[in-house]
Amino acid sequence: MLGRGAAGLFCALHAAERGPVTLVAPSAPLGSATAWAQGGIAAALGPDDSPELHALDTLDAGAGLCDERAVEVLVREAPQAVRELQAMGMAFDEGGTPSLEGGHRARRVMHAGGDASGRVLHRFLGRRVADDTRVQWIDQLARAIVLRDGRAAGVVLEADRRVESDRVVLATGGACGIFGRRTGPATSLGDGVVLAWDAGAALADLEFIQFHPTALDVPGHPARLLTEALRGEGALLVDAKGARFMPRFHELAELAPRDVVARAVVQVREQTGEPVYLDARAIADVTTRFPVAAESCLQAGLDISREPVPVAPAAHYFVGGVLTDTWGRTSIPGLLACGEVASTGVHGANRLASNSLAEALVFGRRAALAADEPWGVEPIGDPTPHELAPPLRGLTLGEVRELCDRFLGVRRRGDELSDVTSTLSGSDRDGGNHIATLVAWIVALAALRRLESRGGHFREDFPQPDPNWRIRQVVDRGGWRTLAVPEAQPRR
Ligand SMILES: Cc1cc2nc3c(=O)[nH]c(=O)nc-3n(C[C@H](O)[C@H](O)[C@H](O)COP(=O)(O)OP(=O)(O)OC[C@H]3O[C@@H](n4cnc5c(N)ncnc54)[C@H](O)[C@@H]3O)c2cc1C
Repeated sequence: MLGRGAAGLFCALHAAERGPVTLVAPSAPLGSATAWAQGGIAAALGPDDSPELHALDTLDAGAGLCDERAVEVLVREAPQAVRELQAMGMAFDEGGTPSLEGGHRARRVMHAGGDASGRVLHRFLGRRVADDTRVQWIDQLARAIVLRDGRAAGVVLEADRRVESDRVVLATGGACGIFGRRTGPATSLGDGVVLAWDAGAALADLEFIQFHPTALDVPGHPARLLTEALRGEGALLVDAKGARFMPRFHELAELAPRDVVARAVVQVREQTGEPVYLDARAIADVTTRFPVAAESCLQAGLDISREPVPVAPAAHYFVGGVLTDTWGRTSIPGLLACGEVASTGVHGANRLASNSLAEALVFGRRAALAADEPWGVEPIGDPTPHELAPPLRGLTLGEVRELCDRFLGVRRRGDELSDVTSTLSGSDRDGGNHIATLVAWIVALAALRRLESRGGHFREDFPQPDPNWRIRQVVDRGGWRTLAVPEAQPRR
């Protein structure tokens, strides 16, 4: 088991029922995006909710690219995962009553500790795993997958230490750390994506990245997330003159989908040449109701209860990853993936808020219970080989982040993507960060190839969705293939 976020920890607890587990992961809790999560866990547990409604909202957010089989699994098993946590002793806010959140048409989001849900979940699962004598924890990073006869048979750690195992589960989280402006851990560089790539596994959906529209934008301070719930409670987006602008862009104004708000913020900043602000002064008791957001502002010298705070989009969630079926199986026998590192197809082209903790729990459990075979995914045709060589040692992390922020962000353009892929290709700088560079290279290539705009991928030169692109892009070292998205079943 690689990684100790929600996916790795929940998977480890379930895998321990089948036999001894070795958990490989660095100890720093803030290296796990789970500990940063503010919203909560989506699960159809409310009296006016149902898995069907949850599926509808997930499919809407996914913009036509969700794999409905994965969605079905998520919405049916998320309530079970939450009940399991409760049975293990985890307490949720409001006596376990779900709350409403943007994009969800029913009260569906389970909170714990107010806007510190992720921290509470992470600590709770961490303690359970630490108490479980069947799980041995090695405080290190995995560097490679050991393959024997085409099957994953263990991992190589730092200093060339090896751990043998009959299967390897990647639960290493996302890759938004390749961006300078990101809401999560700096260390989320996509290790699992590169481990899988090196092992020859297939990846998918790498062009789709969710940008959160309201991350703090104060020079010299990290782009901390200012949760959507602030806008849900009445915070407004205003320009430097204090004028509200979102009603011009969408009928739902500040509550429009994340990608719409993110593009609007970028456009207003460009047009005015000045910052955009989130004004939360109208929210009563904002600092006590949103302690994490208030503290983030305070660290940047701002008091969210007294002044509008500057915001801009930041990379938030890595939709793509290692291609898996609904049991976490990858294209390499014995290698599984779950959580943000995996691409099950459940999020389609964009993720519904609060679905990723649910995903980590549901698919973490499944990866622990999966039978060995068969792999349930079928990419189509022979691969189109890569035209450009992959990076060698790569560029420095700072250089990668600068390129990603400028060219792989909220709005992308073909000519710029073309330049970026050439710059990254074959790059071999002293002190180069191979992992970040390789991930950025694949993301840029995937974004260059997709000639349309959909979900978390917006091309200025192809601003509309194209029905011919209702396919998923799959890539491995041999090149590019596609994966058909099964026709949606009528639900309404
Ligand atoms: C600010 C913020 C707020 C969010 N809010 C929400 C929310 O409210 N609801 C929601 O559903 N989602 C939310 N998300 C997304 C959600 O937190 C993540 O998608 C989810 O926690 C991912 O869990 P994970 O277990 O897959 O990965 P992570 O929690 O990121 O854990 C990855 C683990 O892998 C380890 N690792 C990395 N590389 C290696 C390696 N080479 N070898 C061994 N171990 C390695 C890391 O150290 C870490 O332990 C939020 C994300 C952010 C950044």
